[in-house]
Amino acid sequence: MSTLKNLLTLEMTVKNLPRVLFMRRLTIVTGAVGIFALAGLFWYSYNQIQRNKDIIREKKEEIERNKQITTPTADSSEIVAIPPPVTNSNSELTPSLAPPTPKETIDIDWNSRSYFTAQMPAKSIALTLDDGPSNKYTEQVLDILKQHQIQATFFLVGYRVKENCPLVNRIVREGHTLGNHTYHHPILTQLSAEEQKVEMETTQTAIKNCGIAPDKLPRWLRTPYGAQDETTLQIAHQVGLNTALWTVDTNDWRKTATSKSIAEEVLKSQGQDIVLMHDATDANLELKSPESSDTRQNTVDALTEIIPQLQKQGFQFVTLEEAFPSQSLSKPEVK
Ligand SMILES: [Zn+2]
Repeated sequence: MSTLKNLLTLEMTVKNLPRVLFMRRLTIVTGAVGIFALAGLFWYSYNQIQRNKDIIREKKEEIERNKQITTPTADSSEIVAIPPPVTNSNSELTPSLAPPTPKETIDIDWNSRSYFTAQMPAKSIALTLDDGPSNKYTEQVLDILKQHQIQATFFLVGYRVKENCPLVNRIVREGHTLGNHTYHHPILTQLSAEEQKVEMETTQTAIKNCGIAPDKLPRWLRTPYGAQDETTLQIAHQVGLNTALWTVDTNDWRKTATSKSIAEEVLKSQGQDIVLMHDATDANLELKSPESSDTRQNTVDALTEIIPQLQKQGFQFVTLEEAFPSQSLSKPEVK
């Protein structure tokens, strides 16, 4: 009986064997899949954490880099000064970039003019008119300036001042700056120091005698023909004058000049220029060039073209006083 029972059990076992085997395989496969899935999940999570760590580190580094850029590493005394830009110039003479030694007076000469004009307001132009006052042209020039509400600098010749006091007063009344252009319009470098001083001082006196207030007397000298040397500059300082040459030469005094050629020369300017023009014919006939024209009407006509065009382009017109307000010059003494 017992043997039979055992045989029956064996038969059952043999019959069930494929099912049992199948179930075991299923369990093994399921377990393996589960383990792989868990391992995959763990691997993915680990990588995500590492990636986030990397992003945080990169962000931190970026912040540090930005800090280094915005935080100055040296104090202000170590900051290197940027040299002033060089303005366009029509002269054959090469301007020096070295800043002149600071002094009480300003000398805008051939060497230093780029240095000084670079300090003028951007897009500003200083119109200067030499050799007047002239009852033929100065009045026309003043009318045009008034019409456009701009100011200029007039370098007056002493002997012409006396007979034109009303014009000198009108120049001042309308807000323009007076300049000293010597009494007889000589070549100053051919004169003695004493003679040069007389040329400058008698012009100051002639202007004062027109009833011009002390604070409106010339503080600027322009030497005739641009002829000057160290002595000239020293004498000018003694008389209380700054000196100013020019950066744009319109050549308006020449026979060959036309209102168009004069205007073209000025319209080339990018700003920060001192423009040389003339509101009177030759002040010294002994030194008159055969190339010199007997009229300055071209200058007057050119102004009517130049001013509105430059104003439309956003340029402003300044006097030398406005262009160089920082100069600390004491008022000239007039005897
Ligand atoms: Zn002159």
